Amino acid sequence: MQKKVYIDLDGVIADFDRGRREHPMANITPYKGRPDKLPGLFKDLEPIEGAIEGVNKLLDAIHFDVYFLSTAPWDNPEAWTHKRLWIDKYFETKKIKKRLILCHHKQLLIGDFLIDDREFNGASEFTGEWLEFGSERFPDWSAVLNYLNA
Ligand SMILES: [Mg+2]
Repeated sequence: MQKKVYIDLDGVIADFDRGRREHPMANITPYKGRPDKLPGLFKDLEPIEGAIEGVNKLLDAIHFDVYFLSTAPWDNPEAWTHKRLWIDKYFETKKIKKRLILCHHKQLLIGDFLIDDREFNGASEFTGEWLEFGSERFPDWSAVLNYLNA
């Protein structure tokens, strides 16, 4: 039986913090303090170290059924499109097609594992196991892969 694994994007696969810091409008009103609204931010994020290889290992493992599970800012509709384009840029389309779920209620998804760096948008209420990416226990992708035995 396959285990369902949900993987967050920002802070887990895509380097949101770096993208926010380096965005040319980061310190301009109305974007200062509202990085979610920065134009084009989500389109050009760099991958987090080891993430692309790590996700591919999970995608290639027959005992895992893998989905991306991310929250896109409600007030920044272009972000929803850019997240879809971003995963297509970094992964083979045939492996990830129709495997992107964007929602603000991650606890509603049924599955075994959620790899997520933050507790918000339902992550901490996920009914499977939440692997808190960036925590002491799961500081990086190799720790996650070791734990999942992938
Ligand atoms: Mg995140």
